[in-house]
Amino acid sequence: MKPSIAELIPSTPATLSNWIAGEPVGPMSHAYYMDNVNPATGKVISKIPRSQDMDVQAALRAAQSAQLIWKKTSLPERADLLESIADAIEARKDEFAQAESLDTGKPFHIAKNVDISRAISNFRFFTGAIRHDETGCHMMGDALNYTVRKPLGVVALITPWNLPLYLLSWKLAPAIAMGNAVVAKPSELTPTTATLLAEIFNEVGAPKGLYNVVHGRGIEAGTALTNHPIVKAISFTGGTQTGRYVAQSGAEQFKKMSLEMGGKNAALVFEDADIERTVQGIRRASFLNQGQICLCASRILVQRSIYDEFVAKLVAAVQELTVGDPQSESSDLGALISDDHQQKIIGYVQSAKRDGGKVLCGGSIPELSDEIRGGSWFQPTVIVDLPTSCKISMEEVFGPVVVVHPFDTEEEAIEIANGTQYGLAATVWTQNLERAHRVSVAMDTGLVWVNTWLHRDLRTPFGGVKNSGIGREGGHYSLDFYSNAQNICISLPRS
Ligand code: NAP
Repeated sequence: MKPSIAELIPSTPATLSNWIAGEPVGPMSHAYYMDNVNPATGKVISKIPRSQDMDVQAALRAAQSAQLIWKKTSLPERADLLESIADAIEARKDEFAQAESLDTGKPFHIAKNVDISRAISNFRFFTGAIRHDETGCHMMGDALNYTVRKPLGVVALITPWNLPLYLLSWKLAPAIAMGNAVVAKPSELTPTTATLLAEIFNEVGAPKGLYNVVHGRGIEAGTALTNHPIVKAISFTGGTQTGRYVAQSGAEQFKKMSLEMGGKNAALVFEDADIERTVQGIRRASFLNQGQICLCASRILVQRSIYDEFVAKLVAAVQELTVGDPQSESSDLGALISDDHQQKIIGYVQSAKRDGGKVLCGGSIPELSDEIRGGSWFQPTVIVDLPTSCKISMEEVFGPVVVVHPFDTEEEAIEIANGTQYGLAATVWTQNLERAHRVSVAMDTGLVWVNTWLHRDLRTPFGGVKNSGIGREGGHYSLDFYSNAQNICISLPRS
């Protein structure tokens, strides 16, 4: 039988280490640790280093030494290492999923079947990608050009708390596949799986220092990393304001940068949509991971002729969701990431009410058992009757709260959908193929899903436009980012 959440919380918090040159090490500059809280209970589960400049520098030097060796390996050798990492995570899948669930408060079954499964797929995908990679060749009458990908050196990976290992592995696998060494700074709120992954790197015999982890605050460890000249590229996923700081610090030294940032994604529901399928699809798109996915739909735009019917069905479907114990298989939603985040979401719901919004379901903290009452919880919430320009419709909430707005024409729906500073993703729900295409290309977003959501082929480009991001990840886009293309032209004099 699975242990209860109370049994999983240690009576004395564990101490997590940084990982530098293949060794677990404490913070150097101060013996200074921060609390890592389980957001489902509010209890401290571990202490993590609050790393400073010196720790980051040690990690960067370790990465630099490892990279000198690693860059000489062949693509098949790197592919073998990636594959063995995937196998080793798979062998400890439950342990990784439990760690992710405890750090984030998300249900264990989601951590296992979404987060950790995808992390394994990321390593497997880039194993295949480099095994089957082809380089460009351009023939001239008197010369042959061919292109090789060269490693960048040491790259910094900065990741958020919502999908910790999923997003870290999405960057790490292509980074090492291209011959780089890495220093990772996971979110201070979700440090554990990045640390377990360092054990895996040792277990499979990766060069010491190929993957280093420094824990701590973004403003301290993060900036020490992004400012350092050893770092040749930064791959960042997080909020738009943080992305702005990261871009500024990297720009001075012309570092390569990939920035994946916030979103305020619209779902456009047309009167010709399959309503039952759309309700199910939008419920998933809005509330998976407590709505804490950058791609989640948070503005639902519904054609007026089906508005009442659609809203009634959506609310009924949302009310069926179970919020509760992350250890239970029947929990659809777990806890939010922190008390601060819970307060931010409560603030947005209050602002919606001030703007005239009507809360049709949710809107408050759910009733919970004693074991988890001390955590950071919120009910899945649907709000209507708001102007499309109000605060909650324009800003990223990043929680289990959606607003629904009616529209009359396709043009109006497109205008509302494109009317924010963000441009990450949109979903279009219609059975009319021509409309599906017409509306999709009109979206100012990097991603559009039609009659589906988070349907991912890892070969496809992933990323946003406007204030949602710069650059693309996925397939060869990732391989391109983590390498410098070099063209070699060989003269072939005509005899
Ligand atoms: P965040 O506060 O921006 O933090 C992201 C990471 O940056 C964390 O590791 C953070 O460290 C670090 N950081 C903070 N300040 C920094 C600085 N000055 N220099 C360098 N690093 C710094 O974001 P979050 O709250 O963790 O994540 C939620 C956000 O991520 C949402 O806006 C969401 O939309 C976005 N997101 C985007 C995507 C995408 O693909 N576009 C995917 C997932 C999430 P600490 O937190 O430890 O201080």
